[in-house]
Amino acid sequence: MTLTKHEQDELIQLRRFFHQNPECSMQETRTASFIENKLQKCGLSVKRIGKTGIYAELSHITDINTAKTIGLRADFDALPILEATNLDYASVNKGVMHACGHDAHAAALLSAAKRLSKNRETLNGTVKFIFQHAEEICQGAKEFVQSGVVSNMDRILAVHMCSSLPVGKMSLRSGECSASCDKFTIRVHGKSAHAATPHHAVDALYIGTQIVVNLQSILSRQINPIETGVVSVCSIHSGTAYNIIPDTCVIEGTTRAFSQAVREQLNSNIKKISEGIAMAYNAETEVEIIEYTLPLINDAEAAKEVEETAIELFGPSISEHNYSKVMLGDDFAEFLTDTKGMYVWVGSSDGEGTNTSYPLHHPQFNINEKAVLMASELYEAYARNILK
Ligand SMILES: [Zn+2]
Ligand SMILES: [Zn+2]
Repeated sequence: MTLTKHEQDELIQLRRFFHQNPECSMQETRTASFIENKLQKCGLSVKRIGKTGIYAELSHITDINTAKTIGLRADFDALPILEATNLDYASVNKGVMHACGHDAHAAALLSAAKRLSKNRETLNGTVKFIFQHAEEICQGAKEFVQSGVVSNMDRILAVHMCSSLPVGKMSLRSGECSASCDKFTIRVHGKSAHAATPHHAVDALYIGTQIVVNLQSILSRQINPIETGVVSVCSIHSGTAYNIIPDTCVIEGTTRAFSQAVREQLNSNIKKISEGIAMAYNAETEVEIIEYTLPLINDAEAAKEVEETAIELFGPSISEHNYSKVMLGDDFAEFLTDTKGMYVWVGSSDGEGTNTSYPLHHPQFNINEKAVLMASELYEAYARNILK
């Protein structure tokens, strides 16, 4: 641990402050102002991205020919979950909770920003601090990319708390990390009739259920079995009474994939199957696909550098290479289209059956706070290594 006792205490307090004051995606106004203020106190000029994203830049160039640029990204939005942790710093914003560890990410990066700006004369290059809003709805990263502030970077690093890895381990594998994530909504429009006269109806409920069943054939019959993907239908709404055939059915779900090709195939087949089935029964359909985020693929070179940094800091036992890729999505992937980068799962659990072993998005999710300290050290040390 390279942090002083004072720095450690300050960082834990910061994480608890964020935890106690969570705000949902695109509504992170107080959190954004708080971060903005802290960064200004470090002598950094700060810029808003969208309404609540915060961007700051630290530049110290000693040799223009070798100077590099690194992005450090932390997300800071919370979830609409009623917290059930019983922590004395539990959420005071009822029904909103930091159940994905973004309180830890924001605190870790803010603390690293303070240390890096205090010792800026040892750097050669630029650190771009990306405090990203609205990760949970995959909107924030796109706003940063569109703003242009994250172009021309040599490297980028993100961390994420991980309750299925023990504290003291970090997943440092290169390649596929997490999946693309898109949302689909299928609206079937039929014709209502009395339950006793089905021949006068175009039964939207029946057609909707045929669509749900057939969507499962995309993965089993249309995608190369060597590839992986998910088509999950998670909600279906139709009908108002037991004796009225409904005229509408709305189906919602999500697709996940590790390649753009599979992602496009899943989404276009959902459209084709829904429209084909609806047409066969004389119904109309609208299929809306909202593209949330790309697959997240860690760069091999960046992964190697981050691992070297982590080993320098915490010793060789830190490395975990067998942590599986996951079908979760994270819009950090949007930053990786033109920058080599790495997304590190930081172990935050004390093991099975403890209060730090609940999965992400669980109302009792909590972390071993040592993981926040380690994440903060990794941000700082990797920036220093790239900007040597
Ligand atoms: Zn989450
Ligand atoms: Zn998250």
